[in-house]
Amino acid sequence: MNSDLELLLKLQVIDYDIGELERSKEYLPDMMGNLKHEISDAQTKLDAVTSELEEAKIRQKNLELEVSSKEAELQKFQQQMMSIKTNKEYDALVGQIDSVKESISSSETELLELIDRIAELEKLMVEYREKVSHVEENNNKQLQILQDKIANIGNTMSGKMTYRTEVSSAIPKPILTIYERVRKGKGGTVVVVVKRRACGACYKALTPKKVQEIKKGDRILTCDNCGRIMFWNNEDSN
Ligand SMILES: [Zn+2]
Repeated sequence: MNSDLELLLKLQVIDYDIGELERSKEYLPDMMGNLKHEISDAQTKLDAVTSELEEAKIRQKNLELEVSSKEAELQKFQQQMMSIKTNKEYDALVGQIDSVKESISSSETELLELIDRIAELEKLMVEYREKVSHVEENNNKQLQILQDKIANIGNTMSGKMTYRTEVSSAIPKPILTIYERVRKGKGGTVVVVVKRRACGACYKALTPKKVQEIKKGDRILTCDNCGRIMFWNNEDSN
């Protein structure tokens, strides 16, 4: 391969890497944000379950106290039954007993439901706690890697820039000018492989004469349509 072309391909890789570094300044902080968000999401879920469980346990205690005080009341009413003197007193007491029994039964129903929910919450808490520690461990590792990458962008960038100067200064000025013009104008790939005897970027068909010239590789040739620099590669170009 033409040595200028080799240098151009090298330059293209360097420019791609520099572009990636530029883009990484944007997306690395975004990625970090997502990882942190995932941790706090898992923590929020765990917190919600933890506080619901605490409240449920308090409610359970209160219900148990309520039930036992109502049971004491019921016993008191049942003892009063022994010393009833009038029908009126009897009716009133039966009414009170019924109402306290009803109240005990509804508290007990709530208590049973609550006990089920507590068991469920306790299971969830174990599950969510594991999830938090798993996500924390995983994401913190990744965060460290991303943090290091961000911290190194400057150094990596200046290394690439030095290398770029080195490579580009070895390319003849007129050729470099073509490269820079297309790079700034079109962006993306400047040096493209010929594909099926057409420009690999814009797919404009090449004349047989141009194909022959590109194949020879004596000089740098550009696409009439998009201006990109073309090269031949037996695998793709035929
Ligand atoms: Zn083209």
